[in-house]
Amino acid sequence: MAVEFRPSSNIALLRESATIAVSQRAKALRAEGRRIIDMGAGEPDFDTPAFIREDAKRSIDAGHTHYTATEGILPLREAIAAQAREYGPAGADVSALDVVVSNGSKQSLFNACFVLFGPGDEVLVPTPAWTSYYEMVQLARATPVVVMGDPRNGLKVSAEMLAAAATPRTRGIMLNSPCNPTGSVYSREELRAILDLARARDWWVIADEIYRRISYEGSAASALEVADSRDNLVVVDGVAKAYAMTGWRVGWSITPRAVSKAMCAFQSHATFHTASMAQYGALSALTRRAEADAAIAAMVEQYRARRAAALRVFAQAPELPLVRPDGAFYFYFDVSAAVPDHDEPGTAFAARLLEHAGVAIVPGAAFRTPGWVRVSYAAPEEQVVEGVTRAVELWTELRR
Ligand code: PLP
Repeated sequence: MAVEFRPSSNIALLRESATIAVSQRAKALRAEGRRIIDMGAGEPDFDTPAFIREDAKRSIDAGHTHYTATEGILPLREAIAAQAREYGPAGADVSALDVVVSNGSKQSLFNACFVLFGPGDEVLVPTPAWTSYYEMVQLARATPVVVMGDPRNGLKVSAEMLAAAATPRTRGIMLNSPCNPTGSVYSREELRAILDLARARDWWVIADEIYRRISYEGSAASALEVADSRDNLVVVDGVAKAYAMTGWRVGWSITPRAVSKAMCAFQSHATFHTASMAQYGALSALTRRAEADAAIAAMVEQYRARRAAALRVFAQAPELPLVRPDGAFYFYFDVSAAVPDHDEPGTAFAARLLEHAGVAIVPGAAFRTPGWVRVSYAAPEEQVVEGVTRAVELWTELRR
């Protein structure tokens, strides 16, 4: 007789990632022969730059096919530390010893939640936020506390809003700028006020900066640039988005040394390290600076052009509540007025758009804002325009 599967209490609250569910449904419809415009994916549609691919291939032929250190190869950690030192004052003393390389920034974030938070702790999550933050905090058996962002300010939170949501149990904040799903970017002043509050209250700040290099109105600030000290800072970044290297699974954390030691010990029992050849690919991305900067600039220009084209379509429906994105590659808009009397207007809207108009987008329920939907413009411009046009048409039609 088969052993009955009873999920352990570890995963009692676990939910499947809604972003992945949508792209799977889109794939299934495609397999049936339907033409689907996929604007659900949170990944660049570009290939990894050729010089990175070539260097990674060479690393395999040079024999870099063995285990590496848990925390990652030293030259990569040195390159990450060198880059952090350039960010600004709080990064000035970062060394390779403060860096742990992981299987994507996702694992770095998970490591951070797991070693910093535990039962009884509350972690403030400016909302909407990337779906995995809530789950990661919960998997660490801490409690994610939703702090709703201000729709009049790109759905961002202020230091005052965070202070109002805090309790004596508050231990940290999950900060993400540029933000997935809104594309909002925190200004230096906004960041500083939040970092000052966290410091005054002894909270950890987990600053997820994976989209930092994809910004359209000047550069997006790193917490290392703005903070006075990094004693309570965990800065997470990686190669996935800016370098179009999602499948390589290389991310990292920059933390105070005691934290990096704990994260390393934890990771040593979980995944050990990320693939050796992927680390060499990331090393190429971080050290061949001129080529990498040119490749990133070319991709950001394309995102910028798609964003501008889509904004022209959105301009035809000026009443549609839309966050104007300054970074990342997402549009976030509120469809609740188009689907009233529904618990999850965004889910109903996204399902209708996929089934009837063949456009895959992500319901805002994934980001704890069920009235909204996210559209990714990491897709060719003509598809972005067509997809956004259909979404705006559906919104207009439903409102009639
Ligand atoms: N952080 C945010 C806000 C993301 O949107 C994503 C991916 O979608 C990640 C982290 C994970 O990136 P990685 O591929 O480096 O694990």
